[in-house]
Amino acid sequence: MSLKDAGASPSAEQKPALPLPWHAEIWHQWLRQIQDDRLPHAILLTGLPGLGKRTLARALAHFLLCQQAGAHEPCGRCSSCQLLDSGFHPDWHSLEPEAPGKAIRVDQVRAMSTQVQQSAQRGGYKLVLIWPAEAMNINAANALLKTLEEPEPHTQFVLVSDQPSQLPATLRSRCQQWPIKPPEFSVGQAWLACQLASEQQPDVLLRAAGGRPLQALKLSTPEFEEPRQLLLQTLEAITRGADPSEQAVRLKNFSLSSLLGYLQSWLADTLRLKLMGEAAIADSRQLPLYRHWQRLLSSQQLLQLDTQLKQAHHQLMTNPNSELFIEALLIQLTQELGHE
Ligand SMILES: [Zn+2]
Repeated sequence: MSLKDAGASPSAEQKPALPLPWHAEIWHQWLRQIQDDRLPHAILLTGLPGLGKRTLARALAHFLLCQQAGAHEPCGRCSSCQLLDSGFHPDWHSLEPEAPGKAIRVDQVRAMSTQVQQSAQRGGYKLVLIWPAEAMNINAANALLKTLEEPEPHTQFVLVSDQPSQLPATLRSRCQQWPIKPPEFSVGQAWLACQLASEQQPDVLLRAAGGRPLQALKLSTPEFEEPRQLLLQTLEAITRGADPSEQAVRLKNFSLSSLLGYLQSWLADTLRLKLMGEAAIADSRQLPLYRHWQRLLSSQQLLQLDTQLKQAHHQLMTNPNSELFIEALLIQLTQELGHE
């Protein structure tokens, strides 16, 4: 395990959910609004994945529900904080799809609305987190809109979305939007260094993750690292003339979506190397591969391959036959590289 204490089970000793360093400005604005009793009852947190939007939403929940909160943060020890940690706080409602990729349905929204119409079980705030908000189907979004139009006192809604443009405009206009941006590189790097084992390279990972610290942390886990290594070995093998069909078999146990994601980002990096030089690339770990591709592939070929990968990603949603898919892709790449 490469992460220090990440995802450790909650305990009385555990620190409460706190905002991350790059959330400080928003957090202090919220604290002022709470103090003046003018925190908008519906907040929409937007931004790319990997910036800690849900962590920030949970920190707000902890702060509002904590029974002994300090001036700036929740205590982490009171019964409310402990109930929240366990996921069973009666005034905390988390609405999400039943399975990844599924919709948040209207009956889920209605059940939540009925619950928040009752007074808070523990006499304070009621918190509703909706994530990912764009997963609500149109009926669910309309039902939520009705609930937001007739706000119950001390009921705080936090909608979290990577793709806010997919939310109905009427719903967006009912929320105060707070965009979360990637932190300054040094801030993200310092935070990441505290989460990683000493042999891991926070700067390389953070760059590979486009400056998004939680995404960088994800990239450091075996779930992401193993397919990256294997894909790299596979590409090196076909570069040396190995049979692409045989090589494709090695990749069959990995998510095709993440393999395609790697290929896309590596093609983009090769193009950056070609056009702007080494300083412009995002993930320096594959530099030998980029140099090799740069020599053999023209910019036009790289752009064409990129378009094909995008189409492949799209087709994947309807036809997820990964083995054939990755084989076809490797055969094509082999041909482009000149090994017929
Ligand atoms: Zn507390």
